[in-house]
Amino acid sequence: MTYFADLAPFTYLGPCCGDARAVGWLEAEHDYVRGSVQAGVITALECLFQHAWQPIVTAGWHDCSLCGRQPGDGPITREIAGARELLGVKNLLVPAGRVIYGAPSLIIHYIEDHDYRPPDEFLEALRVLDPTGDDYQAACERIWNGS
Ligand SMILES: [Zn+2]
Repeated sequence: MTYFADLAPFTYLGPCCGDARAVGWLEAEHDYVRGSVQAGVITALECLFQHAWQPIVTAGWHDCSLCGRQPGDGPITREIAGARELLGVKNLLVPAGRVIYGAPSLIIHYIEDHDYRPPDEFLEALRVLDPTGDDYQAACERIWNGS
């Protein structure tokens, strides 16, 4: 079980020297903001998933506690770009200026299946992000390392 309130300091991946803010770390016992998101948000998250910069590789995977899933159900998977991918393993890092947002890849599932609406500042950062470019990796490293 890993819970962070939206925009709380993001410490899950260990010490970050920059301004790291958590987004989308939902757990069943905590309420969260619901609402629709713009068309394109899921596509942007899928693209980010494929190119996600990972400061460290974590072991194991997160499950969704909102679904009432049982131990043994296994990880949630989703088709992304023609491949069956595990959600709940990778983290999705979104740089924006001097801030970096850290979201679990389950955020795709939370938005699609649980009506979760991430904070506007995260959605805006995602909207202008191009995770396919070298700039994305460089921005993540720079903010993460506080340089
Ligand atoms: Zn769920």
